Amino acid sequence: DALGADTTLADLPLREDLRGRSPYGAPQLDTSVRLNTNENPFPPPPELVADVTEAVREVAADLHRYPDRDAVALRADLAAYLTEATGVRLATDNVWAANGSNEVLQQILQAFGGPGRTALGFEPSYSMHPILSAGTRTDWVPAPRREDFSLDGAAAARVVAEKRPDVVFVTSPNNPTGQSVGIEDLRAVLDAAPGVVVVDEAYAEFSAQPSAVELIEQYPAKVIVSRTMSKAFAFAGGRLGYLAAAPAIIEALLLVRLPYHLSAPTQAAARAALRHAEATLGSVHQLAEERDRVSAALRELGFDPVPSDANFVLFGRFADAHRAWQRYLDADVLIRDVGIPGHLRVTIGTPVENDAFLAASKAVSEEIQ
Ligand code: PMP
Repeated sequence: DALGADTTLADLPLREDLRGRSPYGAPQLDTSVRLNTNENPFPPPPELVADVTEAVREVAADLHRYPDRDAVALRADLAAYLTEATGVRLATDNVWAANGSNEVLQQILQAFGGPGRTALGFEPSYSMHPILSAGTRTDWVPAPRREDFSLDGAAAARVVAEKRPDVVFVTSPNNPTGQSVGIEDLRAVLDAAPGVVVVDEAYAEFSAQPSAVELIEQYPAKVIVSRTMSKAFAFAGGRLGYLAAAPAIIEALLLVRLPYHLSAPTQAAARAALRHAEATLGSVHQLAEERDRVSAALRELGFDPVPSDANFVLFGRFADAHRAWQRYLDADVLIRDVGIPGHLRVTIGTPVENDAFLAASKAVSEEIQ
């Protein structure tokens, strides 16, 4: 047993506002089919593995030195990728990187949120937005979506104008529901926002909608576009998230980031992975096709999948979503109960994994109907 195991959370001088809260927790269970955390199901190709290994081997000789604090070479590579992907010319000083976009989002809240300030998001959306707000003592203001989970741009702009939050989160495509937000709806929110608007584009590569990076020129003091290598890039274990914004926003983040937050192996591995972007991103098209196949098959089985631009599908309706989640688990298929009544979320996997999920879905549908 661990030393001090008799002491509980209740015995600690924990901040009052953190008492009773739950940590972020997608269960990491050892099932044969794992479709619960929106990863790319295809492992990196051998050339990428070799290149990452070699890149890390090279920096290993210098591990007695701190890494480049500002990760300039990596940011230049990310700027080049994003320029190519979006057609919007971005400089190194337009890009910032951290350990996953979760850290990027946390730094944004440290700089632009904090005690006495508020952050607003349109729920249901990514559960870390309110959790990171709580951690930085930024008051969370939930705002609604339409019944069908899409975002009503005009209604969103009205609630932003009324609540005047310091930070607005717009997730596009939205996790866990899947729909993208159009540029005109983003413009409406930006026009109404008194503070910064974070467009969380973690799943952008799976969507045909244009990126919000094209809004940086018009709204340099407001718009921040957050991205990640965890999803389309098949680099979730590498922990590399980034953002695009005006250089002044990045200057603000330098005030709160930890020095040397991105390790030399992380920077080197991410740069090596980026050199293989074409190969890794080759899976995006296949995953989008699989997503459409899975959605159609779910509809055929009598389910109600929400239209998705991402690599996952939210679907219902279950009288008891948690019970249904357990049925899938009993069938050795791990999906996600995101806490939306009557719904579950499945990440799109390999065709074989998707078939296993659909077979389990058939059994579940027969059982519950
Ligand atoms: N934003 C959204 C909308 C996400 O779904 C996720 C991952 N689940 C993230 C950000 C964070 O991912 P990471 O920290 O791996 O970049």
